[in-house]
Amino acid sequence: MIRVTENLAIISDLLAISASEAQRPANAVKLLAVSKKQPISKIRAAAAAGQRDFGENFVQEGIDKIDQCRDLDLVWHFIGHLQSNKTRVVAEYFDWVHTVDKLKTAKRLNDQRPACQSALNVCLQVNLDDESSKSGVTAAGLPALAAAVAELPNLRFRGLMCLPRPADELAAQRKPFAELRKMAESLRANGIETDTLSMGMSGDYQAAILEGATIVRIGTALFGERK
Ligand SMILES: *Cc1c(COP(=O)(O)O)cnc(C)c1O
Repeated sequence: MIRVTENLAIISDLLAISASEAQRPANAVKLLAVSKKQPISKIRAAAAAGQRDFGENFVQEGIDKIDQCRDLDLVWHFIGHLQSNKTRVVAEYFDWVHTVDKLKTAKRLNDQRPACQSALNVCLQVNLDDESSKSGVTAAGLPALAAAVAELPNLRFRGLMCLPRPADELAAQRKPFAELRKMAESLRANGIETDTLSMGMSGDYQAAILEGATIVRIGTALFGERK
């Protein structure tokens, strides 16, 4: 039996320690609880312990869980690969999308966001390894995409997200996160507002926090192995 409440307390402490090592305030880093392939009971346990932000990767699984947790006041983040034929439900159900990498997807989310809801928070996923097999906009394509997305009225452009290749050493882990931070700084220098760096998971959150992560996405360390 994984003890979600205890894990949540431990992770919150570890995030605060990492933030303090980075000379950043503890509340500068938000924990996104990645609940994909985890049961509702664990989401409810984390929510009861005060966790509000949850991340899901698969559209159908995500909307089922959102429906089942309507009685809780939770914030839902879509962090999986988004196919353009699935944008409508994502625009209707989620509060954030971290994985936009094409203007076409952004425009669909913008057009499909219900008028009665506040703007959908959006991060652009950047492909730092420049592997064509991976999702994400390239570094070269980022400035134009960010400028276009920032103009869409039903989206709120928040910042950048990355999912780098796993590395063992802290120094190697920091490298891609530092690159993402510099990309956000350069957008800001060009007048595009951004306040979010979504980077770091169970195995590399410490490196991400040292490089300025504002959201770390943690699944296994909080909920245990996925089913
Ligand atoms: C699954 C997933 C995570 C969480 O990974 P853990 O290693 O379980 O912490 C974070 N971000 C994304 C995009 C994921 O798909």
